[in-house]
Amino acid sequence: GGGADKTVLARGEDRGAPRAAGQGGMLRDIEQAIAGRAIDWHWQPKVDMRNGLILGFEALVRWTHPQIGPVAADVLIETVEQSHLLESFTYLSLDVVLEQFAKVQHLLGDAAICINVSARMLERPGFVSRVVQTTARHRVDPARVMLELTETALIANPAQARRVIEQLHDHRISLAIDDFGAGFTSFGYLREFAVSEIKIDRSFISRFTESRFDQSLVHSLVVLCESLGIPLVAEGVEDPETQAMLVAMGCHAGQGYGICRPMPYENVRGWVEMWNA
Ligand code: C2E
Ligand code: CA
Ligand code: CA
Ligand code: CA
Repeated sequence: GGGADKTVLARGEDRGAPRAAGQGGMLRDIEQAIAGRAIDWHWQPKVDMRNGLILGFEALVRWTHPQIGPVAADVLIETVEQSHLLESFTYLSLDVVLEQFAKVQHLLGDAAICINVSARMLERPGFVSRVVQTTARHRVDPARVMLELTETALIANPAQARRVIEQLHDHRISLAIDDFGAGFTSFGYLREFAVSEIKIDRSFISRFTESRFDQSLVHSLVVLCESLGIPLVAEGVEDPETQAMLVAMGCHAGQGYGICRPMPYENVRGWVEMWNA
């Protein structure tokens, strides 16, 4: 299964596209898609693995290039982050996803909507007010909005990032550190920034049942997060064994194909009814 997650365009390769879309062509196509709102977000639930309580949904971008076909999310994001389109893409994602969330929030208890935001956006003037305005315009309770800080580069100006995160907090919008333990994320972040949630990188979960190292690492994160009072989330939970071991270890929140694959927004209502039945 998982047709929706199969992508034609793998990182850095172009399998016989009908026409060569060089970087400039690709950027023009993305720009057009942003302008035409021809980009979609699929929703993946995050649950309390002990009892199935829905804690939130993460919005994951899905884009089908008109000629090339589906483009992998991380490939799209990498291209967008290195271009002048980062702001317009981010603001489109906030607008589309919060508009959708507004229509189903009453069905979801206290569940949050989690939106991925590139760490580079923290440096853009007006970011906080744009987030706050978009949330208000769609009549979404800011306390139910969580931004997942993804990063492909070191935060250039930690002092400014810290101020921005505090401003978000003042507006009751929370912030998760994504992909913790991978790439540039570090323990320093937990000291410097007011973090509401930590998401352990999928790479530590995928071999979890066999890897003593990964088990030790997750266990130490559970202890750390408990003492800091920060919820910990495991992503990439693919099977019941991993889920059971995580719960036994004290990592209760999880997300992954083993729980539910990302789904089109249109399916969320039906999925929630089924899940809660
Ligand atoms: P991420 O934020 O770490 O998102 C989780 C990724 O893992 C998603 O890939 C999701 O589909 C996938 N996933 C979920 N459960 C499982 C599982 O059990 N096993 C495996 N193998 N994978 C699982 P996706 O959708 O391809 O997104 C890739 C990355 O692209 C995201 O990683 C995130 O960094 C970025 N991204 C996606 N949407 C957005 C967006 O709207 N804005 C920004 N800035 N970044 C986004
Ligand atoms: Ca994420
Ligand atoms: Ca992640
Ligand atoms: Ca990631």
